[in-house]
Amino acid sequence: MDRKVILPGSTIGIIGGGQLGRMMALAAKQAGFRIVVLDPAFNSPCGQVADEQIVTDYDDYDGLRQLADKCDVITYEFENIDYEALKKLTGIAYIPQGAELIRITQNRIIEKDTLVRSGVQVAPYEAIYTYEDLIGAISRIGYPCIIKTAQGGYDGKGQMTLKSDDDIQAAAPLIEHGPCVLEKMINFEKELSVIVARNETRAMTCFPVVENIHFEHILHKTIAPARINSTVEKAAKAIAVKIAQYVDLIGTLAVEMFLTSTGEVYVNELAPRPHNSGHYSIEACNISQFGQHIRAICNWPLQEIELLKSAIMVNILGQHVDNLNKQIPYQSAWFIHLYGKDQAKYQRKMGHVTILTEDVETTLDMLNQTGIWKD
Ligand code: ADP
Ligand code: MG
Repeated sequence: MDRKVILPGSTIGIIGGGQLGRMMALAAKQAGFRIVVLDPAFNSPCGQVADEQIVTDYDDYDGLRQLADKCDVITYEFENIDYEALKKLTGIAYIPQGAELIRITQNRIIEKDTLVRSGVQVAPYEAIYTYEDLIGAISRIGYPCIIKTAQGGYDGKGQMTLKSDDDIQAAAPLIEHGPCVLEKMINFEKELSVIVARNETRAMTCFPVVENIHFEHILHKTIAPARINSTVEKAAKAIAVKIAQYVDLIGTLAVEMFLTSTGEVYVNELAPRPHNSGHYSIEACNISQFGQHIRAICNWPLQEIELLKSAIMVNILGQHVDNLNKQIPYQSAWFIHLYGKDQAKYQRKMGHVTILTEDVETTLDMLNQTGIWKD
């Protein structure tokens, strides 16, 4: 066998120490890997479970070089790391995912352009560099529309909905911050996502299509599998596969989509990594998105994915922690995940709960009745 396979006992480096890195590390440690994490904060969620921590900024080349020296393979847990630094690192370390997908997903203009070239449908959009661009784009796209900063946005940050001319002035600071995209507001029936994993042999697997419910632009709940018909399910998976092939994915890609009442599917955005909407897979699938990601970057054969049971995943934000803690003594069926973040700030992702269920509707009602998620 001449392909490079990373075996247990080897060291995996993770750039970024958040919850995604933590859950990757936990999956990797189960298979006997060592973990070194690079994050600007000491004792980050991933740092707490890693064998070693390098505490530097993501663009600190000395820190990255140390990571390269210590690790047999390097991955990342979020897309807002420094592209140039990562690209340079690919010259001295084994980074099977490469840097190109980071370049694409760091910038919404490049991302949308790539999606269009891959042949999938996105909401009508225009790149915005000036106030005049904005006025022109609104006249073509119409209200309601959303302006998003091209770089640095997450969980709805750097976004604004425009409903009428009265909202235009308020969008000026976003344009001053840097390039933006203006996109048509899609009147969706559901938000869906599909997570794909692919390794160097180009073997590919898709996790089930799931349904995502956002509250104030932050993922609130994921229902697996999505309550959709098989035509939509096949279409959503085909879209994810098409994009993965087009960008020659190695590793994990999450594809967020909008489904309209007429059955059209628009791609919203990409994440080149495991995704919040895939956390349910830890308990509900034969392999989690984190376990499959580790297999992909270590070039192990990917597991065929099976959904063992329907599941609901609910995020725990800062304001939900106290109420969650009160529920724990009463909830034998809840899988509790807390990420080890010290400050339970408002709207900060602190953890999640997964519940396996044979009856999604009843479990949704039960979750509502707990009152935990009444903000
Ligand atoms: P983020 O990087 O913050 O996740 P998204 O582009 O995914 O940014 O936007 C967050 C959420 O805002 C989406 O999941 C969706 O609920 C809503 N949203 C974003 N763009 C649109 C759109 N064009 N039409 C309708 N809703 C949208
Ligand atoms: Mg999103």
